[in-house]
This record gives sequence, C-alpha cells and structure tokens, in this order.
Amino acid sequence: VSVAGAVLALDIGGTKLASAIVNRAGEVLAERSAATDAAASAEETVEALFELCEEVLPAARASWQGLEAAGISFGGPVDFPAGRTVTCHHLRGWENFPLRDDVGERAGLPTALDNDANAAALGEARFGAGRGCAHLLYITVSTGIGAGLVLNGSLHRGANSMAGELGHTLVAPNGPACTCGRRGCLEAVAAGPAIAARARQALEAGAESALAAVPDSELTAKHVAELASADPLARQIMTEVGERLGVAVAAAVNLVNPDIVVIGGGVSQAGDILLDPTREAVRRHAVPESVRGLRIVRGELGARDALLGAAALAIDLTAARGEP
Ligand SMILES: [Zn+2]
Repeated sequence: VSVAGAVLALDIGGTKLASAIVNRAGEVLAERSAATDAAASAEETVEALFELCEEVLPAARASWQGLEAAGISFGGPVDFPAGRTVTCHHLRGWENFPLRDDVGERAGLPTALDNDANAAALGEARFGAGRGCAHLLYITVSTGIGAGLVLNGSLHRGANSMAGELGHTLVAPNGPACTCGRRGCLEAVAAGPAIAARARQALEAGAESALAAVPDSELTAKHVAELASADPLARQIMTEVGERLGVAVAAAVNLVNPDIVVIGGGVSQAGDILLDPTREAVRRHAVPESVRGLRIVRGELGARDALLGAAALAIDLTAARGEP
C-alpha cells in the first residue's frame, strides 16, 4: 500500500467527524473518527477534526509535509466557488463559514470543499460502483435524500452549487409535509423518518409484524430495512419506498441519461428489496432508450462514500496543478 501522493480526507457529518489519509488508488491508509458535538461551534468542530488528524498522520506513517492536498465533505449546502458552508442541516454555527480556506491555511495544503452528496457521488465514480462510468447519478437515502451528478467524469454543481436536490422532487401531490415546507416531496415519502412513520401507522392500525417488538419511540428506518427480507410489512414498506424512489429516478434518467445510478445511505442496506421496485418503476416511467444498459446498484463504499469522495476532490486538485 503506497503512501506516495497521499491526500487528507475530512468528513463533517451530522453525527460523525472523520479524518483519513488516502492514497491515489483510493486505499485508506489510516482513519480516525469521533462523534460530532452538536453544541460545538464551527471553529471548535474544526479543532476537533485537527485533533483527529494528529492521530491519523502517525497511524498512516505520513506527515503534513508529505501530503499533496486536502478534501472536505460537509453535511450541508456549500458555496463551491467561495469555499464556504451555507448552513448545516444538523449543526448550528455553520452559516457562511469559510471552511475551505480555514482548513487549507491550518493544514498548509491546497484544499477543496463540497457537500456530502457531491463528495459521495465522486467517491463512487472514482473508487466504487461507478468506476469506469462517465455519467453517474448518486442518490443517498437516509435521514434526508440528496443526490450528486457526475457528468463526463466531473461533478456537475450548477449555477448556485445546488444541483442534486432530487429529494425535493414532487412525487406525491398533496402528500405529507416535507422539511423544506412543501408537500409530497420524495424526501417526505421515502427518507428514513417517513419510513419509520409509515411503519408506526401500520402497527397502530393493527398490522402484524416483527416490527411490533421494537418499542415505538425507538423504531427507525434501520429496523424496517433490516427486517425487510423476513417480514411482510417491512417488505411492503420498502417496496413502496423503492417505487417512489423509482419515479424520481426515472425523471432524472430521462434528463441526464446516466450509465449508472448508485444508491447509498443507510436505507440502501435493504438491497434488492428496495432496488428491485426502483428498477421496475424506472423501466415503467423512463424512456426505454435511456434505460437500455442502465445499471441501478447499491453503493460499494458504504458509510465511507463521502470520505473517499473528499479524497477524490483532493486528488483532483493535485491533477489541476499538473503534479503526478
Ligand atoms: Zn421537500
């Protein structure tokens, strides 16, 4: 495992901070993570990240001087050209924070910053399920639903760095309220909280299910995903979620004609029980010529997708400077 040309990858998520040293082949030489402190300021969170870096460097037998660049994945919208966070969905104090330059100056490295869905899309394109694909659509289904688009091998970010808001596509007119203030968005019917709510409703209505063994206040989408292969109610819920997801994916497939659609996030652990209904809905709703040869698969990088995407962002910086 080569340390040559290694980069620093950082991930700031709603529940976890991670720091890793990654080589150009996408191999993680060392990784450290810690729980996110929801009460911490942005500055304190950056401080905590650098404490992880001081552990991860010796573990990888690397040094600050030996690193080529740094990449950061952030769990919220980012102003890409400015290198600033716009806000965080999970933590306070991140409004308009100059994260890219703050980390870059402290680390003494060229640094790139992007949101977690974009980072994960790039990670899967370079090192995961989308290796060798020019056009990749990545969708994360967890507490929320986000997406990232790689076209001709590069991230498509859009005019305001806001491309990929697939979670707020209307799929259920007059459906449940969404976190964005509208109704019937994909996120409002297919993200983790919606899956848990759907299970609770069915149980309250008297449905028989192994899910009934889980205390009501603890029931999450993870339970539904885990039980989906064995339990009819859990399977039914995941089927409905997969169909809803497929309606939105079909619209995206019609628009961009990707080689591959990669589904990540915790809910994707349900595997084909989620993805088969998605594939079927895409076949039904998208243009046949766009669907021919299209693969719809689970991500290969799992919970590391955004972290490895941060590494890919850093590696692209070194390429842009014309280094080996
Ligand atoms: Zn919405």
